Amino acid sequence: MQKIANDNEDFDVTVHWVPGHANIHGNEEADKQAKKAAEGCQNNSPRTRLPHYLRLGSLPLSISALKQAHHQSTHARWSRIWSKSPRYARTHSIDPNILKHSFIKLTQSFPKRLTGLLMCLRTHHAPLNLHLNRIGKSLTASCPHCPRTEENVHHYLLTCPQYRQERHTLVRALGRKATSIPYLLTHSEATPHLVQYINATGRMKTTFGEITMLPKRAD
Ligand SMILES: [Zn+2]
Repeated sequence: MQKIANDNEDFDVTVHWVPGHANIHGNEEADKQAKKAAEGCQNNSPRTRLPHYLRLGSLPLSISALKQAHHQSTHARWSRIWSKSPRYARTHSIDPNILKHSFIKLTQSFPKRLTGLLMCLRTHHAPLNLHLNRIGKSLTASCPHCPRTEENVHHYLLTCPQYRQERHTLVRALGRKATSIPYLLTHSEATPHLVQYINATGRMKTTFGEITMLPKRAD
């Protein structure tokens, strides 16, 4: 127990260790107030109740807390504006995660062509016959190798027997996760193997050429 001197009175403080982030009310409240103070909201305690050395100047601000607060408010503002955009409903119905930070983070170092290809696969607008037929660029929606089956993203990536060998290589590298389209299209460790699969099948070559993961100056 420690005695703290105040100008007006003395009071006792007992210091206990408590685990952090364990939903202990007092600790959570202290975290909240510390964060507020680090962001510059220091007026939540009357100055007369602060220890003497804190009454004169201001507390040093935390740059990382300020950055985090700025990032959160910018993101909240962007989300509000985006949710009112006419394109929001359509994009959201196709892929609710398309503009999530995780996708942006995944693709930020990729060449534009690879990002474009991933976007096409995620929105089901890849140059496969089902989509090409919808937009009048193919007479048929069927797979060129399987006349009775629509050529969609699922068929191209997971089931078309024409690409059995290429898929075998993909499964050997990624195991059972290679059968998950969300995994293939959203995880960075899957991307090089997916690129290898796509290049080996040659199916996207007409539209996207040879896909590479290295950014090019002219790309
Ligand atoms: Zn097929």
